[in-house]
Amino acid sequence: MRAIHWEIEMEEPANSHPTPLSEEHWRELLALELEAPVRVRYGRARHQVVRVQRHRGTYLVSLARFFSEAPPAVRRALATWMRSGRRARSAAATLDAWIDERVRSHEHAPRAAPKLEARGEHHDLERLAREVISAHFPAESGHAWPPAGWGRAQGSRSRRSLRLGSFDPVDRVVRLHRTLDSRDVPEWFVRYVLFHELLHSVLDQPARAKGRRVIHGPEFKARERAYPDYERALEWEREHVRGLIRAARAGKPFELPHGKATRAEKSAKAARPASSGGPVQGLLF
Ligand SMILES: [Zn+2]
Repeated sequence: MRAIHWEIEMEEPANSHPTPLSEEHWRELLALELEAPVRVRYGRARHQVVRVQRHRGTYLVSLARFFSEAPPAVRRALATWMRSGRRARSAAATLDAWIDERVRSHEHAPRAAPKLEARGEHHDLERLAREVISAHFPAESGHAWPPAGWGRAQGSRSRRSLRLGSFDPVDRVVRLHRTLDSRDVPEWFVRYVLFHELLHSVLDQPARAKGRRVIHGPEFKARERAYPDYERALEWEREHVRGLIRAARAGKPFELPHGKATRAEKSAKAARPASSGGPVQGLLF
């Protein structure tokens, strides 16, 4: 079971080959592993995903185009399998499993873009995002704004934190947690969450997503602080963080404790209860 040992031992540095792999990448990689000349081309044949022939010492390899996305373990498995054939059981299994998965996902292609529901029971994110953009991003008129929608309703596991909003730099989508789709969540708070995530779309360069991104850098923070409802939104979040987390865990919309006015609505004279620190910060990502 040499192949298993090999997989564990040789974790390839993540960036040694940028994906997608070209034919030339594959040629280099396989020639190195097999210590023999190799020729690789991406084939179109649907019925034969991998074909390897040997001609006067040279490996002639034809791969389905989706091999350009093969992760390191699959690259190694292909080399092992080419060297040892059926004897390389573990490599063959790795390869088979990955190919099965890829073929299946190709059959369902083109992958439908994740469905984004902007209109909730109480808040229409499309309208709110439009308003936030026109009011607070006057300088970014040329920006390709990501669509905003509600995340899927599901009980969250964590009791300590909650992701109220997120911006996905790869899919370029803003998502808000379903628990915010409630009559008890003021519209201005939803706007603030949208503003925060839209600001990510302006300042986060997806091209840098590989490296360590500065998530909330100085410019981000400065612009966020300049947002008119910033203080008020933080205050609301601080006040309701437990209720928000509780509601999210239950997979329900946030509800105010019955009959209770929020502190922001009362005159702000009540002393703030000592914050427990933990989840208060960073509900926004
Ligand atoms: Zn953030």
